[in-house]
Amino acid sequence: MSDTVYEYTRQDAQGQSCTLSAWAKVPAPLTPSQRDALKARARELLAARNAVLVAHYYVEGELQDLALETGGIVADSLEMARFGRDHASQTLVVAGVRFMGESAKILSPGKTVLMPDLDATCSLDLGCPADDFAAFCDAHPDRTVVVYANTSAAVKARADWMVTSSCALGIVNHLKDQGQKILWAPDRHLGRYIQRETGADMLLWQGDCIVHNEFKGVELQLLKAQHPNAMVLVHPESPESVVALADVVGSTSQMLSAVINGSAQEYIVATDNLIMHRMRQLAPGKTLIEAPTAGNSATCKSCAHCPWMAMNGLQGVVDCLESGSGEIHVDPVIGQKAHGCIDRMLAYVAAHPAALAPKVQGMVKGIGAA
Ligand code: SF4
Repeated sequence: MSDTVYEYTRQDAQGQSCTLSAWAKVPAPLTPSQRDALKARARELLAARNAVLVAHYYVEGELQDLALETGGIVADSLEMARFGRDHASQTLVVAGVRFMGESAKILSPGKTVLMPDLDATCSLDLGCPADDFAAFCDAHPDRTVVVYANTSAAVKARADWMVTSSCALGIVNHLKDQGQKILWAPDRHLGRYIQRETGADMLLWQGDCIVHNEFKGVELQLLKAQHPNAMVLVHPESPESVVALADVVGSTSQMLSAVINGSAQEYIVATDNLIMHRMRQLAPGKTLIEAPTAGNSATCKSCAHCPWMAMNGLQGVVDCLESGSGEIHVDPVIGQKAHGCIDRMLAYVAAHPAALAPKVQGMVKGIGAA
């Protein structure tokens, strides 16, 4: 099996953290009257423009609620892509990060795709520039290129397959069974996890998610000791030491399903903390505990919330619908090339629904496939 070979730093030339400019653009909290007025205006505009709001679990609760109240969806990136493609509306408002808007446009090139803030990106996307990635692929022409959804359209254009955290294990298993060697990008933790679970021959790019990378295994072990009956849910973008303590390893949808269907009363959740908004709505009465991002083993404390997801707000939804700002454009040639790898994933998932099963450690009562 090949080991990691590619090193990449995501800091800019001045050594600045890539999150500074994101936090500076996060909208200020709204008063109740401001929130009600903006929600009412957004509702009007969605109806007037025959538009639908497609939101990720990590955006503000008021945006998630607006999406559901207006016939849209709150979902993980796999479901967002499918919903946007299949919905009759010709305008999609994507509340999430840029690669999600690009995927929607690639799958529906004839639709208008708007985003509340086009600067909302992702550390995985930033950490995998298309030119460097193309050189990596050129150096390993014998490998099937599998990329995570959290990449630019240009990186997807170079890939054979796109996967999300919902279906990555199933698809890599399928490729391994066909005897294929894999070049994986960009998340090193997810890549390492899939490599270990499948035994596939994988060469890994060295990106990471700045949110999930901050969960701490030592502190999680201490928290588990304080809550011995809690079920631990971990997103596979987290470090190996955190994944090793999980009862369920899966995507956001799979974690949500685990809380709804699980027999436990308490859940320790290792992913962006805004997923708890939907968990509380769908599993009222269950106790949700944030997995630790600080403690003696921490080099810095994170807040378990993505700064780029936080840039999405009600004002941005209103602005993009009023003015047409924040429109996603994808070069048609790149879009056509990228379409192949997304479509291949969607076709595979449609034909193999069992590929969406989360990884459950041991016997956990009441947890089925998501
Ligand atoms: S939470 Fe992590 S993977 Fe998701 S958009 Fe933010 S930086 Fe990217």
